[in-house]
Amino acid sequence: MQLLNDELSERLAGLRHQGLLRELRSVDSSQGTRINVGGKRLLNFSSNDYLGLANHPVLKSAAIKAIEKYGVGCGASRLICGSLKPHGDLEEALSDFKDTQAALSFSSGYTAVVGTICALMGKEDLLIVDRLVHASVIDAARLCGAKLRIFHHNDLNDLDAILQSVTRRSGLRQGHFALPPNGAARTRRAVTVIGTKSRLEGAFSARVAFKSPRVLIVTESVFSMDGDRAPLREIVELKEKYGAWLMVDEAHATGLYGSAHRGIADELRVNNRIEIQMGTLGKALGSVGGYVAGSRALIDFLINRARPFVFSTAPLPAASAAAQAGIGVVQSKEGDLLRKSLWKRVSQLSSKFEARPSSEKSCIIPIIFGAEENAVRAAAILRQQGIYSPAIRYPTVARNKARLRVTLSAGHTSVDVRKLLAALGKLKRGNLSKYDQVES
Ligand SMILES: *Cc1c(COP(=O)(O)O)cnc(C)c1O
Repeated sequence: MQLLNDELSERLAGLRHQGLLRELRSVDSSQGTRINVGGKRLLNFSSNDYLGLANHPVLKSAAIKAIEKYGVGCGASRLICGSLKPHGDLEEALSDFKDTQAALSFSSGYTAVVGTICALMGKEDLLIVDRLVHASVIDAARLCGAKLRIFHHNDLNDLDAILQSVTRRSGLRQGHFALPPNGAARTRRAVTVIGTKSRLEGAFSARVAFKSPRVLIVTESVFSMDGDRAPLREIVELKEKYGAWLMVDEAHATGLYGSAHRGIADELRVNNRIEIQMGTLGKALGSVGGYVAGSRALIDFLINRARPFVFSTAPLPAASAAAQAGIGVVQSKEGDLLRKSLWKRVSQLSSKFEARPSSEKSCIIPIIFGAEENAVRAAAILRQQGIYSPAIRYPTVARNKARLRVTLSAGHTSVDVRKLLAALGKLKRGNLSKYDQVES
């Protein structure tokens, strides 16, 4: 016992020394623009509950009704006996909402990413990802063993160069598919466990020209820590040019952008050209869980092969019902009003920043400090003034890119934003280095 504790204490001390130690702060209230933290009521600028649905009466009542009818736990994974009606209803609502053939829900966005990438990709395949993609994508890359190439953030030339070098090396050109698939090597363990199925799969794959190596590009549509956007239309064009697949993480866009509020792919009208659309139910949709939306074949394959889906107890029916209700609110007149007040607050705050062009509005506004301890100090100063926006540090962002990540919600008032601006103004006078984004 002592050996482990000694080692861990030392490592924790190291984290503290680098300004990287993280600690939980207990919140004793519902989520909203005001939260109770350590007995203090604070104005909250840290949540991803962009439309204020996490505590919305319609979502709460949907969750309560689901609990009353279906209970709390599901008893098993979806494939055993846990596929309850709220799961199926949610997935139908999701595929209608996203305008795809089908959708699948997961316990979290994290497991949706890991489950999907690991189901589709193996050691001989290639993942090409933006430098700033979410940790779940990097974890998935490690787990599935695919080769990982990282392109500079939003840099189309770099992405093009990588795609070019890959297709040249593997002797593939657009429209040329290599034979045969190495299915047996990819799933050797599965072969011994479920031999019949795999033989069938093998027989089938002999008739279908699989592309090898598979190439999957992954990007976010709105980046989680910077709030900027991927050039999605151009990425779609590139992946089509080279015959690669594309997975787009719309975690910070679902419910917020596009004429049907599906996300940035919807706004740019490229949603029906993206193989894998992924997102979370835990941000603007106000509940918890993740989803993948795409073709019927993709979803059927994930039901069979996404390990976090197959080997984990089904999500709470209450969470699924709440997410479905969240989709309903997003698509309603009330949703329009919520987005309208959200974007008003966004322009109120961004007008004081050189944050980004107003055509690229986003509710994530990073205030970069650089040094970890400066960001931590800034967050503490804000807290003293009744404002909650914790420091975001390595490994969530790169070292020396520590920041306050200010997020806005439809529930914020213009007075709330003015209070935030006043507190940020005082910070500047506190002379924290590299703090240069607030106008004097
Ligand atoms: C939050 C987030 C996820 C994970 O979603 P959860 O539902 O919280 O697990 C994945 N990708 C991005 C970009 C995110 O911001």
